[in-house]
Amino acid sequence: FGPEYVRAIAPYQAGKPISEVAREFGLDEEHIVKLASNENPFGVPDSAKQAMARAAADLGRYPDANGFELKQALSQRYDVPMEWITLGNGSNDILEIAAHAFVEKGQSVVYAQYSFAVYALATQGIGARHIVVPARDHGHDLDAMLDAIEDDTRLVFIANPNNPTGTFIPGSEIEAFLQKVPANVVVVLDEAYNEFLDKEDQYESAAWVRQYPNLLVSRTFSKAYGLAGLRVGFALAQPQLTDLMNRIRQPFNVNSLAQAAAIAALNDSEFLERSARNNAAGYQQFVEAFEKMGLQYVPSYGNFVLVKVGNDLGAGARINLALLKQGVIVRPVGNYGLPEWLRISIGLPQENAVLIAALQKALGEGL
Ligand code: PMP
Repeated sequence: FGPEYVRAIAPYQAGKPISEVAREFGLDEEHIVKLASNENPFGVPDSAKQAMARAAADLGRYPDANGFELKQALSQRYDVPMEWITLGNGSNDILEIAAHAFVEKGQSVVYAQYSFAVYALATQGIGARHIVVPARDHGHDLDAMLDAIEDDTRLVFIANPNNPTGTFIPGSEIEAFLQKVPANVVVVLDEAYNEFLDKEDQYESAAWVRQYPNLLVSRTFSKAYGLAGLRVGFALAQPQLTDLMNRIRQPFNVNSLAQAAAIAALNDSEFLERSARNNAAGYQQFVEAFEKMGLQYVPSYGNFVLVKVGNDLGAGARINLALLKQGVIVRPVGNYGLPEWLRISIGLPQENAVLIAALQKALGEGL
């Protein structure tokens, strides 16, 4: 069944849930540490739990199809009109809606090698052609991406910071890229990890949206805001873009609990700051340990680190298995073309310590 371009898709490989790993390796769920999906180790903020408890009373009704209150809160936060906001069932939904809204079957989409797996899925899912541009130092090579744009290119995906490598492109370079990109090419600037950036690295992408009619900025509540399980993300763009996206998105794509929780989380600056502080400290903890172990890693601007655990093509899978046996779940990235590496999410200090000890043991056994 189905078109050839759908049959050609390699399925997305999500991290194994704790329950599955516990069953497979005969472990206690409570002793498993999961640092695999770039989630927030603090979980859902209390403010969001309270908001959901209130919203739960009304679950017999459909969600607000236009997400009025959430859009209002986002509009104030980012100083853009409400009509410039599109809500998504996670930002994955936004990426997929963008591909559907702006690209025709057979046209091309440009993105970087080692960038987020959903760019390939969204492209292939509509039968578009992908132009994958070789990475530079594990990150985006914007000059090469500009050169790679062809006459039939309608979309460029840029992840900043990038997943799975954690690399970052300074705002000045992105803006230079936006100035040069052809006007009929939509640039999706995926900022899923933006809230983890230091103040000095932050840039004004919401303001760029006013200036560049072909720019779409994508954000999520899954990472720093701790709401991954609820699935809520959003896009900022001018109405020429949001209007098309709204025509083809599912009418109730963000559920009522997610809308209520997102508003609460957006206003919970204390939680956001605590998450960013924990992340910065956890990054130092990892980096110091990797340096002591003599492991190469890619400096990261996200809530995860890509670390090289061996020199042979089996290294990532082997060390991943040795970690699983010790009850630690991380993300192998062989499907990204990085079979010698593992991507490790930053957790609570104690979880990070468990990972470091387990990694030391796994590498020792490999010798
Ligand atoms: N973009 C990037 C770069 C990501 O890493 C992720 C999560 N893995 C997403 C988008 C999608 O996240 P969500 O759908 O949970 O918003």
